[in-house]
Formats: sequence, structure tokens, C-alpha cells
Amino acid sequence: MARPTKDRIIEQLPEIKFFKPAGVPAKKLETVEMTMEEVEALRLKDVKGLTQAEAAEIMKVSRPTFQRVLTSARQKAADALTCGKAIRFEGGDYRVVRPGHCPKCGEKHQGRKKHHHGHENKKKNSKDKKKNK
Ligand SMILES: [Zn+2]
Repeated sequence: MARPTKDRIIEQLPEIKFFKPAGVPAKKLETVEMTMEEVEALRLKDVKGLTQAEAAEIMKVSRPTFQRVLTSARQKAADALTCGKAIRFEGGDYRVVRPGHCPKCGEKHQGRKKHHHGHENKKKNSKDKKKNK
């Protein structure tokens, strides 16, 4: 049974979905395709400056997975920038959950108002597995 992959969470989709180098004729233009998760990884890590652990937590992926997505994104961005390629953001396996919204249902649960679907009383102090190095 395949593991569900749509559980990668991203906070926002990029507003601009396509970048193109100036002055390159369309037929000479190569396009790099970057997934939405890859863009989000770049945004969280390199724009917002989060640690990999923080960014992985937001996206609900393991750190190795985050690392893989981020590395792929950086390679694609570097390839496009240095080789004069267009970039298109497209596809991926993700769900958009805006900050402060519930990752289960995507809605904003105000204050202590009860979750309509009752996942609120899940362990509060769960992941205290921080390693104090
Ligand atoms: Zn909810």
C-alpha cells in the first residue's frame, strides 16, 4: 500500500508561477520545472531563515525529506539562474494550510473554541523530543 504523499503542508503558493530570462527567444528557452514544495522549501529556509528542523516541522516532513526537497530546489534555481533558463512552478504533492490554520481541516479554529471535528484534545505535550545539544 502506497504511503499517502499529499501530507506535505505548504503555507502559501507562489504568486508568480513563471519566470523567464529577458531577451531570450522562446524557442531557445529551456524551462526548469519546480514543484510547489520546492518553492516552499526555499521560502521557509532561505527567505524566512528558518532552520531545517523548523521548516520540516511546518511542512510535516522528515528532516531528510526536507533536505532532499530543498537541495533539489536550490539546484533547479541555480541551474536556471546560471544557464538562463525559465522557471515554472508546477505540481507536487502538497496541501496548502495557511499559518495559524488547522493542518487537519485547513480552517482557522478561533481561541479555545472547540474543533468541530474533535482533534483538539490530541496530546498537547507530544513532541518534546528536542535534543539539547
Ligand atoms: Zn481542524
